[in-house]
Amino acid sequence: MQATSAATPPQIDLALIGAGPHALTLTAHILQKRNCLRDKLLAFDPSGEWLTQWRRQFAALEIGHLRSPAVHHPDPNPYELRRFAENRSSELFPPYDLPGSRLFEEFCADTVKRWDLGDRVIKAKVTRIQPKSDRFRLWFEDGKSAIARRVIVATGGGKLNFPAWVNQIKTQHPAERIRHSSQVDLRNLELSGEQILIVGGGLTSGHLAVGAIARGSKVMLMTRRYFQEKLFDAEAGWLGPKYLKGFAAEADCHKRWEAIQEARNGGSMTPEIMTQLRRLSHSQKLKFHEECEVVGVRWENNRWAVDCSGGEMLFVDRIWLATGTKLDITADPLFEEMLETHPIEIVKGLPVLDKHLRWAGCELFVTGGLAALQVGPVARNLSGARMACDRIVPAIVKSSVALSPAIIRTTA
Ligand SMILES: Cc1cc2nc3c(=O)[nH]c(=O)nc-3n(C[C@H](O)[C@H](O)[C@H](O)COP(=O)(O)OP(=O)(O)OC[C@H]3O[C@@H](n4cnc5c(N)ncnc54)[C@H](O)[C@@H]3O)c2cc1C
Repeated sequence: MQATSAATPPQIDLALIGAGPHALTLTAHILQKRNCLRDKLLAFDPSGEWLTQWRRQFAALEIGHLRSPAVHHPDPNPYELRRFAENRSSELFPPYDLPGSRLFEEFCADTVKRWDLGDRVIKAKVTRIQPKSDRFRLWFEDGKSAIARRVIVATGGGKLNFPAWVNQIKTQHPAERIRHSSQVDLRNLELSGEQILIVGGGLTSGHLAVGAIARGSKVMLMTRRYFQEKLFDAEAGWLGPKYLKGFAAEADCHKRWEAIQEARNGGSMTPEIMTQLRRLSHSQKLKFHEECEVVGVRWENNRWAVDCSGGEMLFVDRIWLATGTKLDITADPLFEEMLETHPIEIVKGLPVLDKHLRWAGCELFVTGGLAALQVGPVARNLSGARMACDRIVPAIVKSSVALSPAIIRTTA
């Protein structure tokens, strides 16, 4: 997926911020409808390549295959991945043909090639979106800037979520002994003889536990609820009208937000990972701590002393926090000026966008988890990227799609 970055022109018709699966999905869908836009669009990403963050997270956690079935991928043709995998059926995993990680990456590289997108990523981090009458000035980390007529924000994850007790640690400790899951790279670790506490009930903590035990450590897996077993992040009914009809009919975005929480219901493990974890617990390499929370930790005698709710005390060499990320548009500097000059309703950190996932009154579109109030609980997933396309692409390719009204406070 190596990209030969083009130089940033001073004026861009369509700028994508981020070059992850969401940006690639959007780009391929836009070109399917208007191939002539190919030379008019550019994606900005600090890596200068497509899908760097995706590849990094799959490699760091040694994830063998995706959680989502083979129809979910960036290409507009849902069957394209199956076609690509024609002679690679051993890389489609049960129960629903879940693509192997390498197969998926090679397929995405093929998608980049087929749509001729190799030179469409510019190596740059966007730090500010500055609205300018009917344009936007994008500011980059190096102090340079460019003007874009339309912008799609596809920046993914949000801020790392740390439990409150992490900020209350008073004892000096080696930084690498407490890490958020996204900072852990299993490939670089030698863990034999260590005890590791992994906090969180989602699939990431399962992958980390399996990887850590394979490196010779023992794991304590802690969740404040119960470990739940689910095939997907959210029920398949959220991919179509079964649940989305009622979701869309709900005018109150607070209620929509609650529906999203209920549908995702915290984190969950796949049955496959749960089976592996149970086996590891039978061989005493893993211990489940359910309905349990960390109250506080101290670094003493070269290890962590962990106070748990319920009074138990654990002693461990490392703590990994698989506690996810937090999406809050009001805490993201990228949107600071947008929120000042084009104020919109924000519910629990998520923007209320129009039906085209557009910021009211301007040509700024948002995809990913930030678009969940419109797209629903799978907004951040690969399926959510396709659903975002159904909404954003018509507004990009047809200039006749009218802007929704907005309160606009102009700046000098
Ligand atoms: C371990 C893991 C496994 C997952 N597996 C699946 C799965 O199997 N199926 C599924 O459907 N979903 C899965 N997901 C959920 C989701 O599909 C992925 O998180 C996916 O990467 C989201 O794509 P994205 O493009 O929104 O974000 P990302 O992949 O995070 O890409 C966003 C990009 O934007 C860049 N960026 C951020 N800020 C800026 C900025 N200011 N300027 C320029 N660039 C910026 C980032 O560097 C990054 O490259 C998984 C998530 C994780 C964490």
